[in-house]
Amino acid sequence: MKVVYSETHLGHRPELEVQFGVPKPTPEVPARAEEVRRALVGDPRFTFVPPTEHGRDPIEAVHDPGLVRYLEGAWSEWQDWRRAENVTTAGDAIPDTVLHPALREGMEPMAEPTAPLARVGYWTFETMSPVSAGTYEAARSAVDVALTAADLVLSGEGAAFGVCRPPGHHSPRSAFGGYCYFNNAAVAAEYLVRHTGEPVAILDVDFHHGNGTQQIFYRRGDVLYASLHGDPAREYPYFTGFAEEVGAGPGWGANLNVPLPRGCTDQDYLRLLTRAAEAVAAFGGSILVVSLGLDTFGLDPLSDLAVTSALYGEMGGRVASLRRRLVVLLEGGYHLPSLGANTRSWLVGAGAGAGRD
Ligand SMILES: [Zn+2]
Repeated sequence: MKVVYSETHLGHRPELEVQFGVPKPTPEVPARAEEVRRALVGDPRFTFVPPTEHGRDPIEAVHDPGLVRYLEGAWSEWQDWRRAENVTTAGDAIPDTVLHPALREGMEPMAEPTAPLARVGYWTFETMSPVSAGTYEAARSAVDVALTAADLVLSGEGAAFGVCRPPGHHSPRSAFGGYCYFNNAAVAAEYLVRHTGEPVAILDVDFHHGNGTQQIFYRRGDVLYASLHGDPAREYPYFTGFAEEVGAGPGWGANLNVPLPRGCTDQDYLRLLTRAAEAVAAFGGSILVVSLGLDTFGLDPLSDLAVTSALYGEMGGRVASLRRRLVVLLEGGYHLPSLGANTRSWLVGAGAGAGRD
């Protein structure tokens, strides 16, 4: 199986996030993608290739061009603001205020503000996704990684894996957040729709609901979004991911959320996976995009499931049995000692080295 990887992600090194009422080191660190790379690079079942540049157009096919422009200049305008205001204590760009809808309820929409502190709160929805010096370049590279994996499958590979970092599935059309800046899976799915003329299914197995991917395609009938995730009644992102959210307008019925209970075991997970797999099987198209988050693992600091490493190979096998070509993209996963091995198990289960390459 071809693995698309770029070391550009190493430049994205956010220092801290604000969560649980305190600043703390972020778990979304460069070592994540490096653990995955190390687990695959010496294995003859995997061949590494670099990403190719795809430009901004595929990103702007699913994201507000204003978000792309903002992220491109965010770090330099943050630095300019620090110098102009002589702020010596500020670190990465994190908002103190975000544009909560109640602020302007019943009023005209807010135009893009000009002050740097306002702008970061205009374009993000939370305090856990800092913009640091290399964030934009890494986010652009992660999209190119995803699109290069898509190209490989379009050119005949049975499956390809993109080591995307930063991850993407929390970013909706017009905001970043949840450690995500551009929605790699959504950009890839839209690119595949445009290149094949077929509908495309996305299966999201990250521990968290991919609120961004759901939002982008919520009214689209040609892209299925199916997700298993910690129940948003208790887990981030709290406000989306409920079973009642089934899509709207032409997208009605093309959105499936399967919330997972606390303490969910491998067997529970596989039983619930069947529902998502049936939805994918019933949907058209020949390509499946997988948002592969490994933070379901029981020892992951963000997980409250009881999932073991044995799940991942089995899950990969169940997904392969859908007989779609696979564009598999890395999302979350924060338990560094297991991340590489669990990723490899999933990919081997999905057929890496066994003729599905
Ligand atoms: Zn996650």
